[in-house]
Amino acid sequence: STSLALFYQARRKERLNAHFEPRPIELRSDEVLSGVTGLIGNTPLIRINSLSDALGVNILGKAEFLNPGGSVKDRVALRMIDDAETAGLLHPHTGSRIFEGTVGSTGISIATIARARGYDVTIIMPDDVAEEKVKALHALGADVERVRPASIVDKKQYVVSLLYILAKIPPQNCFRMLQNNAQLNLESTLRLIKPHLVQSPSSVVVSTSGNEENPEDLMNKPRGFFADQFENRSNHDAHYDGTGPEIWRQTNGSLNAFVSGAGTGGTVAGIGRFLKSMNEEVMVAISDPEGSGLYNKIKHGVMFDAKESEGTKRRHQVDTVVEGIGINRLTDNISLALPIVDDAFRITDAEAVAMSRYLVQHDGLFLGSSSACNLVACVKIAQKMDWKEGQTIVTILCDSGNRHYSKMIYSITNVARNDEYLEKAGIPIDSDLIPAMISSL
Ligand code: PMP
Repeated sequence: STSLALFYQARRKERLNAHFEPRPIELRSDEVLSGVTGLIGNTPLIRINSLSDALGVNILGKAEFLNPGGSVKDRVALRMIDDAETAGLLHPHTGSRIFEGTVGSTGISIATIARARGYDVTIIMPDDVAEEKVKALHALGADVERVRPASIVDKKQYVVSLLYILAKIPPQNCFRMLQNNAQLNLESTLRLIKPHLVQSPSSVVVSTSGNEENPEDLMNKPRGFFADQFENRSNHDAHYDGTGPEIWRQTNGSLNAFVSGAGTGGTVAGIGRFLKSMNEEVMVAISDPEGSGLYNKIKHGVMFDAKESEGTKRRHQVDTVVEGIGINRLTDNISLALPIVDDAFRITDAEAVAMSRYLVQHDGLFLGSSSACNLVACVKIAQKMDWKEGQTIVTILCDSGNRHYSKMIYSITNVARNDEYLEKAGIPIDSDLIPAMISSL
């Protein structure tokens, strides 16, 4: 009876794991979208009324927080997965695994799509990102490893090499590489890598002839797909083919500037390059948080100077308020953007916090920190340049404030306000900052 129980257990498991072949049932309506990925993209463009009215320009935000995974990164995750499937690197519903390093948004987007396509996901992220993102990843069933790196975005040899090792390098070489890499925490890395050393779903092919694959061969197969958003061209393409054309269509091609932060650089590269291809006159500007090197790279040709290294250290070695944008190394996607970027604005954490609160108070818009940075940069463009009434600046509203409760703390009343975090982080809280900025025009 034990063997019978095991038999039924195996049958149940089989049924649970079975994926159903698509059945061609006509929907009779174009209004019904297909599954969760049907919800990705085609986001509305909204006028930020408080800022636009005060400044006499149109500041428009692309409402990317409405994507099903909650951020602009859904587009990128979908394109990376689609392209990997087309290239034969991923196979839906066979248990292939996707690996990615992320500050959270991309991981959540990948995990969302992965659930729908039958992939497993391993996410490596810094341990100082907002807790909300980790909870979302766990809820989506991703394996999450939190590391204490100098930065996930800066030390390529740290997280990126770890992911590369996990996804691609044969196990027998892994150990040697790990041992030779002083930056990697061997213990946590081994814990992470272990399940994949034994078997990888994508590589475990149980032959129907009854002969299991040679274990030697098995060990030499890649254990999954490393999405590599920083270097993956699909990231740029998602925006060049999707977000950019949507913005062009939604503004009837009449926009004067486009503002975006850059984490991987995919957004600014893809949208910026598309808009420039339609009209060279569209100004492309980067909103860059404190401690990021892009502002200097664009203004002075170098990522950061000695004077700034202190700030850089601060931003990337302790908790940061602004998540998702800012970088100190040239990724492939950033490199694509640099030739078309006209200007950059350095945004302080205090400005980002003040803008987040201002938008809640005046527009009922509850946005994440990178969106707030973008909107501060929009105001600075209007301040800096000789803007004529009625000109249009477009930016990205990357994600919602609900990913940032533990850090940004929006409430404009004293009840739910949590200024402690900001005080501890040494960020001044000044509710007059944005009104003063606007009225100084
Ligand atoms: N905002 C948020 C919240 C993000 O997570 C990211 C991605 N890291 C960005 C903006 C920046 O986008 P990109 O990677 O395309 O530069």
